[in-house]
Amino acid sequence: MPKKFLYSLFLICNLSLITISSHAAVWVKLSENKTSKLSIDKQSILEKDKLKRAWVKIEYKTVQKNLEFPDKEYNQAKLLWYFDCDSQKSAASQVFQYLDTTLVHSAAIDIKNAEFIEPVPETEFDRAMRYTCSRKDSSQASAPKAKQLTTQAPAKTEGSPQSSVATAPPAPPPEIEKTADTAAATEKKAEKEPPHAAHWSYEDKAGPTEWGKLKPEFATCDVGKNQSPIDIDSTIDADLKPLKMLQKFPAKDIVNNGHTIQVNFKDGNNLILDNMVFKLKQVHFHAPSEHMIKGKAFAMEAHFVHADSKGNLAVIGVMFNEGKANIGLEKLWKQMPKNLDKPVNIVSRLLPSEMMPKNLDYYRFNGSLTTPPCSEGVRWIVIKTPLTASKAQIEAFQNVMKHHNNRPVQEINGRIIVE
Ligand SMILES: [Zn+2]
Repeated sequence: MPKKFLYSLFLICNLSLITISSHAAVWVKLSENKTSKLSIDKQSILEKDKLKRAWVKIEYKTVQKNLEFPDKEYNQAKLLWYFDCDSQKSAASQVFQYLDTTLVHSAAIDIKNAEFIEPVPETEFDRAMRYTCSRKDSSQASAPKAKQLTTQAPAKTEGSPQSSVATAPPAPPPEIEKTADTAAATEKKAEKEPPHAAHWSYEDKAGPTEWGKLKPEFATCDVGKNQSPIDIDSTIDADLKPLKMLQKFPAKDIVNNGHTIQVNFKDGNNLILDNMVFKLKQVHFHAPSEHMIKGKAFAMEAHFVHADSKGNLAVIGVMFNEGKANIGLEKLWKQMPKNLDKPVNIVSRLLPSEMMPKNLDYYRFNGSLTTPPCSEGVRWIVIKTPLTASKAQIEAFQNVMKHHNNRPVQEINGRIIVE
């Protein structure tokens, strides 16, 4: 899907160029975990033309690389996010990346051209939206401040050589919500709950046809129109660009969450898609496959779950036929955890590329998580070339899972699949 909007990129490397805003930012911490901390400037919350917007800040605990410009490193990002509270959708308008206090990179898009999407639950975008939509516009609380704000942030977009972004020193953030996951993986979260707590399964009364009725939060499983998996059948030839991935960092640990076996990765593996950087969070498995290709199901399917800093997800599906053993699985299955929710550190060095074929030609379409809450807006990529896994490897997985863990294919509903 071609992006219509133009990004205008500009770089400011000198701190002295940054205008210090006259409004004092009041940063409120929304969540924190091992990798990052999310805060929101509650003084920046404004409502205009039925949209709310706020500045958010993500402080990373390790230095991040801007993959579009690999020489740019940053450990803090300030982002201007817009929220349509009625439809519960959001879009990013500006991003500023800093290394300590020095601005190293920024990008902007006119909000009129931005695509509003429903954030994946429990991601940074979602948390910021829930907080912002529940707050009063700061202009209602304090008129003079609002005046400063309107002249200050939102209008600056394309081509601005300078910004007057809120760079006031953060006030000590009060705790308002307990720490939560990163933009990371909603799918990971969804699949992490053990069966006794999960209220969903692959069988019987809590099986896939019932998911949408089990909890209000799972309603999308029933009413969604872009649900995954699908049978990839009629496609449009779009001459897709080769996949851009960096896969040099090994797997960290492996966990049996009762719904799947999940391998968590250290930060550093990335997928570049639609000019956005998606970090590989985890890989997990389904047997038999969830997607079908032209009516054919496969013995197994691996899902490489990636998330960007805003919580958008991109998942790559790799199919396995029964055949020769896969080297990656061999390393993993040696440590296949039988106990639930006890991550085991991986001793063999396993790179994500060891579970992907050399030929990375792919199908692409929009879809959802294949587990409750079935959230939509997931960028799906299914690699055309299957890998093989030995009969013993497939059975080892099935034996630990004790049941099939594939959601049946869903209606296409007019979606386009490109290849
Ligand atoms: Zn999956």
